[in-house]
Amino acid sequence: MAKKKDKRMCVFCHEMEADTWPILTWNGINICFTCLEDMLHQMLREPMGDQAAQHMLMHVGEAHPQLMPQDDRDGSPVLDVETRDQDSLPTPEQMKQALDNYVIGQDFAKRTLCVAVYNHYLRLRQEVSNDGTEIEKSNILLAGATGSGKTLLAKTLAKILDVPFCIVDATTLTEAGYVGEDVENIVLRLLQAANMNVAKAERGIIYVDEIDKIGRKTQNVSITRDVSGEGVQQALLKIVEGTECNIPPKGGRKHPNEEYIRVNTQNILFICGGAFVGLEGIIRKRLGSSSMGFASIEEERDTKEYTEEEVLAKAMPEDFFMFGMIPELMGRLPIFAPLTTLTEEQLVKLLTEPKNALVKQYAKLLKMNNVKLVVEEPALRAMARQAIERGTGARALRGIFERMMLDIMYTVPSDKTITTVTVTEDVVLGKAEPKLTRRRPKTTTTQK
Ligand code: ADP
Repeated sequence: MAKKKDKRMCVFCHEMEADTWPILTWNGINICFTCLEDMLHQMLREPMGDQAAQHMLMHVGEAHPQLMPQDDRDGSPVLDVETRDQDSLPTPEQMKQALDNYVIGQDFAKRTLCVAVYNHYLRLRQEVSNDGTEIEKSNILLAGATGSGKTLLAKTLAKILDVPFCIVDATTLTEAGYVGEDVENIVLRLLQAANMNVAKAERGIIYVDEIDKIGRKTQNVSITRDVSGEGVQQALLKIVEGTECNIPPKGGRKHPNEEYIRVNTQNILFICGGAFVGLEGIIRKRLGSSSMGFASIEEERDTKEYTEEEVLAKAMPEDFFMFGMIPELMGRLPIFAPLTTLTEEQLVKLLTEPKNALVKQYAKLLKMNNVKLVVEEPALRAMARQAIERGTGARALRGIFERMMLDIMYTVPSDKTITTVTVTEDVVLGKAEPKLTRRRPKTTTTQK
């Protein structure tokens, strides 16, 4: 008679193995799937955990991909919104708090976005209320300098809400019939982000970047592409306001014999972003001229004293028409959230404060080699100033920091005597090497 196989017991919860309670043996340790999942969640909150944990995570991920978090393009950790369950929608305040963990500044934009996104998902729960009131979809327009966090805000919100998300570049879009990317392909991207689940995709978020570049007056020299920009806006308008799209599952050009997937874009939230360079000046001019003759001298002086944020908050549809945006499309983007250019102070915070701040990430990496990283305040400021000079906001910061850390990350793992690496302002300015503090060599006592 065959010997009955011994049942395994989870070392953590002490549950015995059963058909409904599978147990995995890993390096001689028995662990049930529930405890394993808990452990993975813990680790993912601390994604730069010690090497062994990362190693284990990798193995488990290969064997059990269903336990891994959804695709995360930039490797930033999955958000931890404690109060979420299947049915609860985070309040605008909870969303803002979660955003604050990752996005520096942009308070006004965050509030505007959180309220709009909350209302959007509330609307999806009850499209037509008992009294017949229909709440219209409110897509969002973000305007702010490059590298101010527009994409990051949209992406982080999608993570908080756990909805499919995709980014498209408006400048690659074309009117139907031209060579380039058909507007329907945007929807296909979202569908792919939703693992081809149509119902999920229909509640997702699409971020359309560089919306200001498809203005009517765009000087597009390509002869194969839509040259006016207006055609692209019209095509975009169709899916933004809500339409039934026939999506070729493989993307690319439509083929007459191909089976299409039907996706309704009515409930997809569109967040459009653009730098709208010069917008502030246009609004100031309008504010200034409208105050002339009507406003008192006192009010006129006030107009000049408005901050960038205050001015941008006063944007009107006509200000966007100056960029060649068609009124119909602007009408479908009724929520406007302006972002301000990040200041030196904010760029310093960006390096050190978010959960995935660069300094924190590198400090953790070095700690795995028992090395402490110190980045002095003047060094952080120098990096922020360099990023401002490059004019690409936070975008440049990563490059500056990573370039500076390259030699350190190259040397440290093979030099076990190093205990601390200190980055000073001169290191950032290229005038000095990072200061290395070393362990004192052990003094060997010679025996007589
Ligand atoms: P935009 O879409 O406004 O051009 P992104 O959101 O793509 O800018 O930001 C570019 C990079 O800079 C990203 O890596 C992002 O993490 C970082 N970044 C930009 N703004 C912020 C911010 N306000 N807080 C934190 N990180 C930011």
